[in-house]
Amino acid sequence: MTDETPHQQKTYHRSKTVVIMFLCVAAFAVLMGRLVYLMVFQSEYYTMKAKELHERERSIKAARGRIIDANGKILADNKTVCTISVIHSQITDKEEVIAVLCRELGLSDEYVRKRVEKISSIEKIKSNVDKSIGDRIRECDLAGVKVDEDYKRYYPYDSLGSKVLGFTGGDNQGIIGLEVIYETYLQGEAGTILTVTDAKGVEVAEAGEERVEPVEGRDLYISMDMNIQSYATQLALQTMETKAADSVSILVMNPQNGEILAMVNVPEFNLNDPYALPDTVDEKTVSEEKRQEILNGIWRNGCINDTYEPGSTFKIITAAAGLESGAVKTTDTFNCPGYIMVEDRRIRCHKVGGHGAEDFVQATMNSCKQKVVY
Ligand SMILES: [Zn+2]
Repeated sequence: MTDETPHQQKTYHRSKTVVIMFLCVAAFAVLMGRLVYLMVFQSEYYTMKAKELHERERSIKAARGRIIDANGKILADNKTVCTISVIHSQITDKEEVIAVLCRELGLSDEYVRKRVEKISSIEKIKSNVDKSIGDRIRECDLAGVKVDEDYKRYYPYDSLGSKVLGFTGGDNQGIIGLEVIYETYLQGEAGTILTVTDAKGVEVAEAGEERVEPVEGRDLYISMDMNIQSYATQLALQTMETKAADSVSILVMNPQNGEILAMVNVPEFNLNDPYALPDTVDEKTVSEEKRQEILNGIWRNGCINDTYEPGSTFKIITAAAGLESGAVKTTDTFNCPGYIMVEDRRIRCHKVGGHGAEDFVQATMNSCKQKVVY
């Protein structure tokens, strides 16, 4: 550098300083940017992550509202079941925990071990466990094993009124029928048990347990009468057999106010096992799409989803209109030749030869198709 003039050397130093400073500023800018990104834009994500690690939240399911018939019979109820979970950091005797859970829950050693050894704040082992089994596990008093009580929907009459009542899914949410229509009233609000833990997962005693109580769902009272429903079901099943029909629907209403007393659609399905496929279907080979199609068919409420020509059901309205307007009297006589011509259509009476001479009441009873004879 001896051939450089002092001036040149100074410029060189200055440019070096500028470059280094620029690099420092750039590095800081990048770091600041990253920091802003993490603290401002990603804060929610990391807060959630930390919370997940330090707060152990267990939800308390709300009891779903019951469905009750006209006589106060419970058609949809709740059964108390248990959810078994383990808290890794609190387990003192790992082998004992695995042995007890395998034995009581009928699970494989491999399945339970994987969950017990997993480092997480809380790990669910099994839900919908019978209350008696849950109580037995609780009595073993194992450190790190939590037994929480839970509810499962239960239908005391199995298949009675199945397509009307509907059923619930794994999270106790309504899937079809009244269970889904009145979901907002029936579901209630789940509660939570919140415990704060330190970095090792040990519960912080001072922080205490924060408990939000669940709110029970509201009961649903319906006009359906289970006695009438069960008689109508028997009748429908008999009819299905004698007529070799694929399905039979019966709707019983209170003529005074239109209340539905019974709504039958045989074949019905078992509400306590709604995903069971008929014996004629091979479980192993059926595609997922086909399975859903079959189930939708099984769950379908024909009374409200299918159309039916308004034949005999509508004659009451025409007859009443005729009487009220004075077009006919109950004593008027008619002659039934067995059919009537309407434009180019020949509409048959159910008796091929015709009913002959009859009055208005008889004609209505026989569902005759005929013109008034003056
Ligand atoms: Zn006739």
